[in-house]
Amino acid sequence: MTELRFSKPFTQQEPIDEATIERVGDILRGGRLHRYNTLNGETAEAALLEREYAKWQGAKYCLACSSGGYALHVALRAAGLQHGDKVLANAYTLAPVPGAIHNAGGVPVFVEIDDNWHVDIDDLRAKAADSEAKFFMLSHMRGHIADMDRICTVCDEFGLTLVEDCAHTMGAFWKGKRSGNFGRVAAFSAQTYKHINSGEGGFLTTDDADIAARAIVMSGSYMLYGSHGAAPDEEAFARVKLQTPNYSGRMDNMRAAILRGQLGVLEENVRRWNERYRVLERGLGKSGAIHLADRAQHEAFVGSSIQFRPQLSPTAFEPFIEGCASRGVDVKWFGADEPKAFTSRFDSWQYLGRLPDLPRTREVLSQTCDMRVPLTFSLDDCAVVAQIVREEVARLV
Ligand SMILES: *Cc1c(COP(=O)(O)O)cnc(C)c1O
Repeated sequence: MTELRFSKPFTQQEPIDEATIERVGDILRGGRLHRYNTLNGETAEAALLEREYAKWQGAKYCLACSSGGYALHVALRAAGLQHGDKVLANAYTLAPVPGAIHNAGGVPVFVEIDDNWHVDIDDLRAKAADSEAKFFMLSHMRGHIADMDRICTVCDEFGLTLVEDCAHTMGAFWKGKRSGNFGRVAAFSAQTYKHINSGEGGFLTTDDADIAARAIVMSGSYMLYGSHGAAPDEEAFARVKLQTPNYSGRMDNMRAAILRGQLGVLEENVRRWNERYRVLERGLGKSGAIHLADRAQHEAFVGSSIQFRPQLSPTAFEPFIEGCASRGVDVKWFGADEPKAFTSRFDSWQYLGRLPDLPRTREVLSQTCDMRVPLTFSLDDCAVVAQIVREEVARLV
């Protein structure tokens, strides 16, 4: 019997649609790429994007900026972080999260995760109680949304300002409320592997006028903030504009045009991601030796990646990953000693100094495997990928 193989790349995005390419072409031909370079009464593409994103997200204010990590950094500063303030953060996240905390002058206090890749709310409560942290930067890592009712209760109890990192939950809901609308401020990414793709890009959303005004000035608006698409009124700017530094990180009109085109199909793409996720989930579930996430009924997630834990001995993980790779399936494993490619484990961030050990997070990540779910895969492709993974696990259990 010939062995099943897979040949499509796991990093291939769908093409940008022709109407958007046309629009970007017009901007290039016009030569006015900067968001504040507008002629009489014209609204810049970046401002239109902010208006549309705020509406879509159901937030009062929106800033389009240079990246998700930039939005996280500015969110903390605009929410009032002072140098040396402690910031709670889940220990399983992506490197730009501790980087944003560090960049803003904060000190991360990492919180354990549980078996379903959620932040461990008991540990959150314990660390909120004894760290004097004022902020909680919650990454909805890989789209797994923890119990937001309990999280909001802990934040209220300890007076924590909740900042949501929605890099993996753009388009997701918890009990009917959009991810990003639980905290004081939220950040989103439009980097190439996220739910809308302009190569690089990010958003900050909030309902707080002062946070929005500070974030806009920080992003590099100079005194041109009046041309923003989803900004508070002049009063809010009058309070902050001379007291707020410019940390230059604007969105340009080309990227904004690329993102506007995709916002219109995001809902449909969420549906397509979830279809693919379900095929993978079903396929992996046929193996008796693969743990999948237990996803709460009230979590409407976006299945743009899938996490699983094969029940293998510690020494079997490397051959498992190699076996999958040799058959064309890219599985990322978070348990390797040497961090590879995109880093997500707290012990990769030694610049933060000596960190307390987090045995539970280490244990979960030592078995955690992750696959991207590109929209360029068909449902049949997903079934093939799942079968290969299943066979490679079966070979080693
Ligand atoms: C991608 C990502 C970010 C940062 O986004 P960039 O736009 O790449 O700066 C933050 N958090 C998580 C969990 C991410 O995956």
